[in-house]
Amino acid sequence: MNSRVLTLNKSATLRITALTKKLIREGNDIVNFAAGEPDFDTPEFVKNAAKQAIDDGFTKYTPSSGIPDLKKAIAEKLNKENKIECVSDNIIVTAGAKYAIFAALFTLLNPDDEVIIPSPYWVSYPEMVKLTGAKPVFLPLREETNFKINPADLQKAITPKTKVLILNYPSNPAGTVYDRQELDEICSIIQDKNIFVISDEIYESLIYDGLEHVSFASLPNASNITLTVNGFSKAFSMTGWRIGYLAGPKDIIQNTSKIIDHTTSCACSISQKGALAALKNSNWVKDIQQKFQQRRDKLYAGLKALSRIHPIKPKGSFYMFCDIRKTGLSSQELASKLLESYQVSCIPAASFGAEGFIRISFSTSAGQIEKGIERINRFLKEL
Ligand code: PMP
Ligand code: GLU
Repeated sequence: MNSRVLTLNKSATLRITALTKKLIREGNDIVNFAAGEPDFDTPEFVKNAAKQAIDDGFTKYTPSSGIPDLKKAIAEKLNKENKIECVSDNIIVTAGAKYAIFAALFTLLNPDDEVIIPSPYWVSYPEMVKLTGAKPVFLPLREETNFKINPADLQKAITPKTKVLILNYPSNPAGTVYDRQELDEICSIIQDKNIFVISDEIYESLIYDGLEHVSFASLPNASNITLTVNGFSKAFSMTGWRIGYLAGPKDIIQNTSKIIDHTTSCACSISQKGALAALKNSNWVKDIQQKFQQRRDKLYAGLKALSRIHPIKPKGSFYMFCDIRKTGLSSQELASKLLESYQVSCIPAASFGAEGFIRISFSTSAGQIEKGIERINRFLKEL
């Protein structure tokens, strides 16, 4: 077998999410704090557009980079909301944001190139980099600085082999958000060094406390070195529809589209029509954002009152990172015990490169959040 594939780890997030769903299906009363997807249903306007697409026979291959209407609508959204100057030719629609990231990495990297991945990181980044033959280089982030990139550390991590810096904000798993000044500083460090940024902004609309999401590609001089990744999974609860997109310089996008030609051919035609309807209803997202902020506040207040677990209040995403070092357990031990004996599932952060932490998703109802806090409290008392 392929030696690169043999080095891959299974995705802990997908594995634990699937296990949790299976246990719930089998009738177990599990509090699902593992979910990497919104708990609410895909909105009706998306479903209706997809049903219409099926009835209209819109069920064949589409152009490999996506249907023209959707690419145009994405370009308009990026210009208007993200201040990224682009047209349809700068866009590729992909089978999920995950594939947009993989295709972007595969377009840019040669074996032995280095990719800087701030750590803690989302589980799939290092594995995707390994698949290309390039080398993941982890940039440790510190809790004291809210898991933000320290400019001096970034400077030190750069070598002549550095080709890509992966940014993800609001971040999975720590909920970190950057302001314009911090992004400018990062940009000034990498500029003129032939380094590209893959900016994964899939949680852009889940940002709290009135903060503004600033797209990296909107910074002065950043658009020609940035590939922006986004998608519909989180904001519109469309994880199973598999629609994401990549926006970047035309020459790169043209080359990436060759990868799409020869791998997935195109994203699902029916889902693309659903995504188009989603973009026409952006008010939906504001509503969701408010709900998530309330859930975050409820979870944070509940966990903060407990001993031996230290929650870190996220500024975005729907994940709360918690320091569990005072329990004396590893993240894996703690997550297993919580699930087996207290019916609460969460993700051990060893798989995000951060032993000593767990990730709790607040993509669940207020009632479940209360129940989960109560069970974690019992677990900590009986420890
Ligand atoms: N980026 C991050 C940070 C994620 O957490 C996820 C998980 N869904 C993705 C990208 C991929 O999303 P999807 O492929 O469902 O669009
Ligand atoms: N990204 C989500 C998570 O971190 C969904 C699962 C996955 O694709 O990793 O849980």
